[in-house]
Amino acid sequence: MSAGTGDDDHDPDGPRAGDGPGEQKMRFLFALRSRGVTDPRVLDAMERIDRGAFVRGHFEDRAYEDTPLPIVCGQTISQPSVVGLMTQALDIGPRDTVLEVGTGSGYQAAILSLLCRRVLTVDRHRRLVVEAEALFRQLGLSNITARVADGSRGLPEQAPFDRIMVTAAAEDPPGPLLSQLKIGGIMVVPVGQSDAVQTLIRVTRMADGFRYDELRQVRFVPLVEGLGQT
Ligand code: SAH
Repeated sequence: MSAGTGDDDHDPDGPRAGDGPGEQKMRFLFALRSRGVTDPRVLDAMERIDRGAFVRGHFEDRAYEDTPLPIVCGQTISQPSVVGLMTQALDIGPRDTVLEVGTGSGYQAAILSLLCRRVLTVDRHRRLVVEAEALFRQLGLSNITARVADGSRGLPEQAPFDRIMVTAAAEDPPGPLLSQLKIGGIMVVPVGQSDAVQTLIRVTRMADGFRYDELRQVRFVPLVEGLGQT
């Protein structure tokens, strides 16, 4: 099971043997654009945050492919084009506070941090939070706070949020997250059974209720309640 993959794994624009760093980056950005990531602010953030810093070990040399990759704790770093499409769908403003559920490698949080005032990111695995925090410090991303927490409950003491991004699949949009969204706020969340293709949903909180838009098919690791062992 891979997290954050689209339904189409064919990558004709992916890196090629013999590419230098400049060509790799150009192909990476071209692949994003060809898959619908068109918001210039999102593309700029994805150009500035080096995915290579978030992928370790023997998958390092595949960091610029448009594919999800394994990280520690049995989790995955999402497919870059899915990261781009989810970020774009969140329509972030520079003064927004964003909650991310599912820190994982920290890659998505790093991109969010360039687009908003403050990012709070939570993961149920302590090891992922500790490693992501070290990377945020190293990269000088001082507006991200990472916490070990069960994100299916949100972060009540910091709520409400302008934007919420969930990067693990829930059977339904979690109630606590809906209630921690400001009026006018937006949440993007993959919804569906964990072992199947899921639907990425954008939820907008209106004064009198919620509006749900279906965006596309995706595949994410499941949102699991409670804290992890590591
Ligand atoms: N956004 C990440 C990828 C996330 S993979 C990145 O950019 O790399 C999904 C993550 O969600 C995993 O790290 C998993 O541990 C986490 N997760 C699953 N259920 C959770 C929960 N209830 N609370 C917090 N994190 C959760």
